[in-house]
Amino acid sequence: MTYDTIVVGAGIGGLFAAARLVRAGRSVLVLEKLPHIGGTSYIFRRGGYFFPMGPLSFSHPARVESFLRDVDIEPGIEFKRNHFQLVTPALDVIYSRPLESLRNDLQSAFPVEQRGLDRFFSELGGWIRDLKDIETWHPDFRLPSEPSNFSAAAEEEILGRRERIPSWSAIPVRELLDEVIADPNLKNLLGSQGTGPPVMSALNLAFMWRAMSDVGIWFPSNGLHGLCRMLASSVAFGGGKIMTSTPVGRILVESGRAVGVKTADGEIFTGQWIVSNADYKKTFLELIDPVLVPPEHLDLVRNVPYTGSELCVYLGIDPARVDFRRMRAEHLFYRKEIRPQSDSPPEDFDNREIEICRWSENAPDSVPRGRASLILRVDFPHKEIAAWRTGEKARRAGYRETKNRLAWKLIRTVENVLPGLSSAVEVLETATPLTYQDWGQRTEGSIAGWTWSADAAAGLPGKFLIETLIGNLLTAGIYAAKELFLGGVPTAMHTGAYAADLILR
Ligand SMILES: Cc1cc2nc3c(=O)[nH]c(=O)nc-3n(C[C@H](O)[C@H](O)[C@H](O)COP(=O)(O)OP(=O)(O)OC[C@H]3O[C@@H](n4cnc5c(N)ncnc54)[C@H](O)[C@@H]3O)c2cc1C
Repeated sequence: MTYDTIVVGAGIGGLFAAARLVRAGRSVLVLEKLPHIGGTSYIFRRGGYFFPMGPLSFSHPARVESFLRDVDIEPGIEFKRNHFQLVTPALDVIYSRPLESLRNDLQSAFPVEQRGLDRFFSELGGWIRDLKDIETWHPDFRLPSEPSNFSAAAEEEILGRRERIPSWSAIPVRELLDEVIADPNLKNLLGSQGTGPPVMSALNLAFMWRAMSDVGIWFPSNGLHGLCRMLASSVAFGGGKIMTSTPVGRILVESGRAVGVKTADGEIFTGQWIVSNADYKKTFLELIDPVLVPPEHLDLVRNVPYTGSELCVYLGIDPARVDFRRMRAEHLFYRKEIRPQSDSPPEDFDNREIEICRWSENAPDSVPRGRASLILRVDFPHKEIAAWRTGEKARRAGYRETKNRLAWKLIRTVENVLPGLSSAVEVLETATPLTYQDWGQRTEGSIAGWTWSADAAAGLPGKFLIETLIGNLLTAGIYAAKELFLGGVPTAMHTGAYAADLILR
């Protein structure tokens, strides 16, 4: 059967591209490998509790709402702002606040850093001002359908901003911080919003602080899966077709152009356009016959790293047994000890930054009455656990026990900041990088797209990788953007919208 467009993957990016195309009257088929839509924005049930597999909240809610309206969805969503706190032996700070108030508090806590903080926040404020609404006016980011005629005064102002921005992707923010800030803990907070070393480019850091302090991070009242359901209904209502449990094995290419797909079962669907919502490495290294892609491109794709993966523990708890007094925000990033990490194994959780999210504060209906849920997350390299995987969703004996051991080790570290936690646990589930690889379909279980490090960012050209070197093959989703940009969910939608615009152009 022939379609105008075949979308590989029903994550947010794929669903949004499909919804936009269907609304414009195109025939669209979405093929999803997993038994459900939503990709990593998916919710699962354990013992009366509902937990989110991936995203917990996102930035730029107004942009997300306007995207939904664009595909005739009247969202009616309420957004709850989420706050972020860092607790370490050196700091206890809520940093999801306007930059000025954060700067003032840090200056009181670190009086000797007063001038350096002034300099850092003045640079950062300037970057963020330049980035304002970048998704609507900058030619590298703006949607093809976005109006591009500005008044002469606006044009001149935009030109100045455009001239300043390009070099930031290659500027490691470490250089500025080393120059102006002496305290290593403060340097790391400013340069990574945590305890990690500041490895990002100035552009990514500016995107990150813009999301955290300026726009905020928000939770939608219908949950992330609710957004996906809305998008899937919009696709179906417009006559599009979504087939789950239908893995695509190959994207078919003839004379340099994508012409269709072959499913793992051998069924062939032809289409004028193919939009891949599978991650970019998967698209190029697994779904396309390698002889059809220049080897230099394959090398580039292979060698540019993705962000890392993580270990995640989902807990259903009796909240009456836990002392929550030190947790002052929905998301607490906690590190018990600060020692060099080079000779400390990943499971030395006392020496790692752990995200603790009180999930039921966002989604009270996701837990039984009188109960609460917590999500604990910590970076965990895929290679540490890779040997347990014997095939897709297949593990060596002992994997479950290993996950359990790691989960309880993590809980015991977290108990230092949330006393009573281990006695409060009623339901426990653990995800590892292998879970995100097999149930999230992410190469090596990566969480958030391409690396944000300034050192490796130059590998692939351009800001978006939506247009590819294969004719009529586009990509959509967070991996279609090389940088943090609007953050996960809105970036997935923006790239989906962009891909649809290119098709409708
Ligand atoms: C643990 C975790 C935490 C996260 N936290 C956040 C957060 O707090 N905020 C945020 O904004 N973002 C977060 N993200 C990123 C989040 O995943 C994205 O924001 C958003 O869900 C990405 O949507 P997507 O469309 O890019 O891709 P995905 O959700 O990855 O969807 C891609 C789809 O393609 C399908 N697919 C792949 N290969 C094939 C194939 N061969 N055939 C058919 N289908 C295929 C997959 O099964 C999947 O359904 C998190 C991700 C993870 C994993």
